[in-house]
Amino acid sequence: MRWDNLRPTGDGGSGAAAPLFARGAVARTFDTPGFRGTTFYEIRARSIINRVPAASHVPFEWTLNPYRGCTHACGYCFARNTHTYLDLDAGHDFDSKIVVKVNAAELLRAELAAPRWGGHPIAMGTNVDCYQRAEGRYELMRGILAALRDAANPFSVLTKGSLILRDLDLLTQAAEVTDVSTAVSVGFVGDGDGEAAALWRSIEPGTPAPARRLEVCAALTGAGLPCAVLMAPILPYLTDSPAALERTVRLIAESGATGVTPIVLHLRTGAREWFLSWLAREHPRLIPRYREMYGRGAYAPKSYQRRVTAQVAELARRYGVGRSAPARPHRQARRPSPATGEQLSLM
Ligand code: SF4
Repeated sequence: MRWDNLRPTGDGGSGAAAPLFARGAVARTFDTPGFRGTTFYEIRARSIINRVPAASHVPFEWTLNPYRGCTHACGYCFARNTHTYLDLDAGHDFDSKIVVKVNAAELLRAELAAPRWGGHPIAMGTNVDCYQRAEGRYELMRGILAALRDAANPFSVLTKGSLILRDLDLLTQAAEVTDVSTAVSVGFVGDGDGEAAALWRSIEPGTPAPARRLEVCAALTGAGLPCAVLMAPILPYLTDSPAALERTVRLIAESGATGVTPIVLHLRTGAREWFLSWLAREHPRLIPRYREMYGRGAYAPKSYQRRVTAQVAELARRYGVGRSAPARPHRQARRPSPATGEQLSLM
């Protein structure tokens, strides 16, 4: 999807200090520790609900992304390539040059009220994390959730951010009148300060710790909002040992998650270059093995994907994922959660 409402005017994205876009976009920096080194480009978007191209083969048709770029900075994020459409790079620019659609809520209200809108489910968190750090300052999601609640429009949210708990009031209000589903993304959970914790800090440097994300899942399910876990991405030779899978699935079960969907790492353009440069830096011994697995394409071999999926399914049965989820006081979702599809940004 190109942003035909934005006209890049920058220098290719490396260190541009001036506003990058026409139409009165404003570039801002904030001198607080959480935002140091990040530039926000505030724009007024022309539309906010996006239709997913049929060729995408994802389990949702409509999405909403209030931001572009993500300070969660996951090394494997496949949304990286979308930054190149803005003449920014898919690497550090994606992590640090964040486009903010400041009129997202206002636009959404107008689009939901339009006679042509069919009340379809809207998936959020599929191409960018709506609850990345910028949301703490801009609070776009509060207006968005209020608009969806007022229109009784079904929606789902997928996130790695604990900030979603700030909006529990709006999420539960919306769940009284429409179908709301939530999911958190947790590819692996460490055991304290060990190797897994170091891996998290290295590959998902801007995110809350995986254990914290499971606490978020527990809080959501505890509030009667169904929350599933997207176990993604599973990183070959890094997080796929039987012990690592078992620990992660056990903790997912204990969080009260309503389900778990494993997704093995895939490496498409943009994510591929950035992830492999990280791998060469942090785990050079694995380069030949990754070359073998991903040398011919973006996906790990089918046999590997099947094996890992079967392992997770068996562990989920053993530990009873979904069995300890509290009774839900709100409406039951009528459709499978669109937040747990196969081709998300691996949030
Ligand atoms: S995977 Fe999700 S949380 Fe991570 S950088 Fe991409 S959009 Fe953000």
